[in-house]
Amino acid sequence: MRCRMYRVEQVIGGVWGAGGEGGELTVHDPADGSPVATVPVATADEVAKAVEAARGAAAEWTATPPAERAAALHRAADALASTAEELAAATTAEMGKPLGDARGGVEAGIGTLRQYAELGPVRGGRTLHGGAAAIDFMAPEPRGVVAAITPWNDPVAVSCGLLGAALVTGNVVLFKPSERTPATGWLLTKILDSTLPAGVLSLLTGGAEVGAALAAQEVDVVAHVGSTATGRAIAAACARTGAKALLENGGSDPLIVDAGVDPVWAATQAAIGAFANAGQICVAVERIYAHRDVAEDFVDALVERARALRVGPGRDPGTELGPLVDRRHRDHVHGQVTAAVAEGATLRVGGTLPDGPGAFYPATVLTDCRQEMTLVREETFGPVAAVVVVDSFSEALKCAADSPYGLAATVLTPSMSHAQRAWRELPVGTVKVNAVFGGAPGGAAQPRRGSGQGFGYGPELLDEFSTVKTVHIEAPGGGHW
Ligand code: NAD
Repeated sequence: MRCRMYRVEQVIGGVWGAGGEGGELTVHDPADGSPVATVPVATADEVAKAVEAARGAAAEWTATPPAERAAALHRAADALASTAEELAAATTAEMGKPLGDARGGVEAGIGTLRQYAELGPVRGGRTLHGGAAAIDFMAPEPRGVVAAITPWNDPVAVSCGLLGAALVTGNVVLFKPSERTPATGWLLTKILDSTLPAGVLSLLTGGAEVGAALAAQEVDVVAHVGSTATGRAIAAACARTGAKALLENGGSDPLIVDAGVDPVWAATQAAIGAFANAGQICVAVERIYAHRDVAEDFVDALVERARALRVGPGRDPGTELGPLVDRRHRDHVHGQVTAAVAEGATLRVGGTLPDGPGAFYPATVLTDCRQEMTLVREETFGPVAAVVVVDSFSEALKCAADSPYGLAATVLTPSMSHAQRAWRELPVGTVKVNAVFGGAPGGAAQPRRGSGQGFGYGPELLDEFSTVKTVHIEAPGGGHW
């Protein structure tokens, strides 16, 4: 049972409730279509004023000792922990994921804030060895004004990463959460803002046009987590203003199922990778290359897993597969599935639109898929496993590498030499061997090609939000040392 309707407010230049002259959006619960939140839409003029106000707050925040900035993040993490349930409920109400997953996202966000609070103050520069009467060093500095534009699929975890790293390194931040999860973004901003000096963090709400207006401003960094098409538009905007573009974008991650693996275990891994969060994870398994030796048993077990998933609203404790984020997205997913079937793919389970309210879509497995199908080449972002049968590990590697994206890949194999070949040969930022998820904390990778540019996570994100000044100091002439 949902208990409240959220009335989102912006914060601009430290003033809550500012602006919103661009109209109002309503967010609907994807489980039943009921309204969840009303959201003000920023005008381009409000966006420009917010950037100006943020720039005005930058000097003081930059001059604040890193340990004080870090203490604010620790306080925010504490506050987040005490409101975790509320934030998880908002996430589930807005985008549909099972409540347990939403809690996991909040926990991850808390962990990230704490990690950056610890790492921020201990960062240093380098000293250089030059002339004996000189001192040379390289000191990190904040970049200045950061625009953080985020998606809806894991809204707390992703936003905490960008906001935590940008703030602890001394930047002021304009935060534009997804128009599909604005109440979650608003609750998170209220928590962070309560621990920060007024004006250091601003919240702008609205849709793509608000993000575009922000990316067009003369900020110092535009950090975007979201789709590849948006990332490319942001890169073009940054090329015009000179801002740095940090882009963590879409993917079409392959899973290779090698000969010799236990097909039932492989199917469990594939099901987690393809169906968790209804497939709405950037590193979800999107396409599967199964060796002919194990393909049949593997597909049978995967179909069984898909059938066994408990479907329902995310707020029901037993739910394993919630709805998709909305019907617009469901149309996109179903469009790719029906196109693949029209091109010769075979539906083994799922693939039909259910009756009833909400944006539910069944866990779907297709075989007889081919590399050139849009379902295989492009990001689906739904609970869909597209299986291509291959005759050798080399063929699987070749197909896996053939993609406009380069986010991550998983290989299930009993062979150490195949594992070694996989991590050396696959042109992606992250390679996982024998587990679809579960990387070590602090992990960061550089996405490639259509998946973006720059580190979006881990300690390296602190460097992305910093610049370096090199200083050379010599003794003055005239013997004044
Ligand atoms: P999206 O790019 O449509 O939206 C993300 C944000 O960008 C939103 O706040 C949106 O309003 C804003 N936006 C949209 N158009 C814009 C424009 N022209 N200029 C500036 N801002 C604009 O993405 P989404 O649908 O919210 O998220 C799903 C996508 O995010 C998937 O492709 C997924 O793979 C990707 N994603 C990637 C990662 C990663 O780490 N690589 C993590 C999570 C999600």
